[in-house]
Amino acid sequence: MSEDTLDVSDSLDILSEEQLCRYLLQFIFECRGICHENLLLSALMKVQERCVNGAESSSWSVEQWQSRLAELINKWNVKLSLLDYKIIRVNHGIGKKCASNMIRNLDNFSFPDSNRFYVYVNSKTSDEMKLATRFSAREIEFIKWSLERIISAGLKIHEGILDDDDALVKEIDLIRRSVTGSDVPRWDNSCSFTVGSMELSQYGPMNALEIEGLIEKLIHLKWFYKNRRGEVGMDLKAIVELEDNLIESFQLVRCPVCDTLTLHGVMINGQENQSATYWHADCYQHYITHVGHDYLGTSLITNGIYVI
Ligand SMILES: [Zn+2]
Repeated sequence: MSEDTLDVSDSLDILSEEQLCRYLLQFIFECRGICHENLLLSALMKVQERCVNGAESSSWSVEQWQSRLAELINKWNVKLSLLDYKIIRVNHGIGKKCASNMIRNLDNFSFPDSNRFYVYVNSKTSDEMKLATRFSAREIEFIKWSLERIISAGLKIHEGILDDDDALVKEIDLIRRSVTGSDVPRWDNSCSFTVGSMELSQYGPMNALEIEGLIEKLIHLKWFYKNRRGEVGMDLKAIVELEDNLIESFQLVRCPVCDTLTLHGVMINGQENQSATYWHADCYQHYITHVGHDYLGTSLITNGIYVI
């Protein structure tokens, strides 16, 4: 990712708030529409000092920087709404530790770990219209078919851990250990909202080369991602833009803590007649730390399933 566009050190001009917002938007585009909160804060720090009253920001706390960023994004969203776009802040299900490990070390400030990403999304009401702004009709058919495969794969519970060395599995075990204060045995089961490229290449209306190219395009646009096992899943952008549709079509349930959909973290199987619930790793940690160790009669400590 190039950060040249943010190097304003040569210019002695004072930046207006509007110019500042434009830099941030440009930075989000450089990150292809998804930007880790700490990365965006780091960019804001570089340009804020060129603003009116920029000098006073040198003593700001992390919380002040976070609220300054949220304030700027809110203001800019008013303009973006005219074009049916918005920037929203979402939690990644993998949790703050794993999410922060995804970005490089930031040299200008020491930020606390964060699971939050700013995502540039289309706010049109229908999913068809959202997809149609970026993809052809043929591509949309493939995307819909793939989503069904990915969700169906995620709803299957596997005996054993799909990837013993997965950072999220280790993180969840660490959370359970630190909250209970004792060594806890690894859970027996796992699931994953991902499918192998081979399975996606079975899509009839396209040849293998076309499918491979389209998967690469979807990964580039941050709709899909590939995990370390080489399997393909939905990236944050697809989850955020298609959330309502995914919940309605596949009877998925929003995280009980923050009321948004996650396809990573912890799954708790419901008792009779109750749906399974999917929790962001950090929401899971918050709940077992501050609320309780059971949810609707099921133990959150012993009866979980890793969603990796
Ligand atoms: Zn949550």
